[in-house]
Parts: sequence; structure tokens; C-alpha cells
Amino acid sequence: MASVSIRDLAVRFGAVTVLQKLRLDIAEGEFIVLLGPSGCGKSTLLNAVAGLLDVSEGQVWIGGKNVTWEEPKDRGIGMVFQSYALYPSMSVRKNLSFGLRVAGLPKAEVEHRVARAAKILQIEPLLDRRPSQLSGGQRQRVAIGRALVRDVDVFLFDEPLSNLDAKLRTELRVEIKRLHQELGSTMIYVTHDQIEALTLADRVAVMSGGLIQQLATPKEIYRRPVNRFVAGFVGSPS
Ligand code: ADP
Ligand code: MG
Repeated sequence: MASVSIRDLAVRFGAVTVLQKLRLDIAEGEFIVLLGPSGCGKSTLLNAVAGLLDVSEGQVWIGGKNVTWEEPKDRGIGMVFQSYALYPSMSVRKNLSFGLRVAGLPKAEVEHRVARAAKILQIEPLLDRRPSQLSGGQRQRVAIGRALVRDVDVFLFDEPLSNLDAKLRTELRVEIKRLHQELGSTMIYVTHDQIEALTLADRVAVMSGGLIQQLATPKEIYRRPVNRFVAGFVGSPS
């Protein structure tokens, strides 16, 4: 696990400012949810932490290190997207092991890590299947597994449950919560779903227009929203 510190971060695309001097300090092992309507800058913030875009101003620190200009692979992060991004021609086992083999890890270590991730995510019976032979929920478990085998310090989730039906969404939400309790890793989780945010988070950052409107525990957000935007957004059905 590692702390994450976002310091006066601005992201502009041409003349359009998407994030405005944003500050956010996340403790080691904390589960932070970025909650807000579509287009408010959640994915941009997550991508900036992951190193998938160039920031215009400010810094990103992970584990006490300034990683603003580090490659994504050197940041100790693992990212899980809404779409699964699995290799369709590879088995689940290969999907989990491929990156580790490329990175040069010894075979025994790779096998150990794959077995451990498969056990934690309860996908052991699926290891020899192809992604096309899996349900949406199973695919998303494999996608989480790919971050898990890399032993990352920080998990980044971008709307990982949005493509699933309501029943699976609830099921996997409980799984992600359990995973957090079991691993103790720092997690940053993006969603536009209030229920997801309030049930998963240690603290919620409610965003609109490239700014954090309120950063507080779910209870505080629910009981004492700081402004009408937060009250309206958190109080409305998703
Ligand atoms: P969210 O994830 O909260 O839905 P995003 O972070 O994806 O929002 O996008 C925030 C805003 O930034 C949107 O208005 C979007 O159109 C704009 N945006 C995102 N990426 C780019 C880009 N590469 N170029 C131009 N505009 C972008
Ligand atoms: Mg998004």
C-alpha cells in the first residue's frame, strides 16, 4: 500500500480546463471514491494518477515519491476499466500471467501469484477458459486479477461495474470491498453511482466541473452536504 497525494493538479486539453488546481491527499490503505456526474473529470483525474496523460500543472505523489513524469508501469499502480481489456485469444491463466512473464519474473513465482489471485477472486475453475467463455462478472474478476498478480500498491478502478446487470453489480461490489479488507491496498474508485460510493468508500470526493466539491466520509456527505450541488447529486436516484 502507498499514500497518494495530488497537489494543485490542473489538466487542460487545448483551451479547455478539465481539472482546476485540484488537491487530494489519500492515506495508505484508504478506499477513496471519486463520485460525480458524467463529464466532471473523474476519469481524467484517475488517468493523471495512472500516468496516462500529461498534466498541465501540479504534481502526483505515490508512496512519498513524485511520480508526475514517471511511466505508468513504474508507478506501482494497477488499473481496472469499465471494459475488460482482456486478450481474447489467451486463456484466463495466460491473461493473468502474460505481463509477469514479459517483465521477466521466474516461472514458479508467476504460477504462485496466479494461483493466489485466482483463489482470492474465486476464479480457479475458470483458468483454462477463454474470455469469450466467461460472463461479464467473471471477466471483470479476471481484469481485477491482472492488477492483483502485479502486487500493486494502489488500485485504480474506473466505473468497473457499469457494464454489469444490477445483481452482478451488487455481488462484485461486495467482492471489491472484501478484497480491500483482505489486501489493505490503497484504492481509488471512480463511479457516478451514489449507492456504490456510499457503500464502498472510507471517504468520498464529490466532483463537479473539474473540482472537488466535498471530501468527507459517506455519513458526513449524506448528513451534511456542503452545498446544493452535493445535496442534489447525492440525494438523487442513480
Ligand atoms: P468523467 O470521467 O467524469 O465522465 P472525463 O474525465 O472523462 O469525465 O472528462 C471530463 C471532461 O474532459 C469532459 O468534458 C470531456 O469531454 C473532456 N475530455 C476528456 N478527455 C479529453 C481529451 N483527451 N481531449 C479533450 N477533452 C477531453
Ligand atoms: Mg469517466
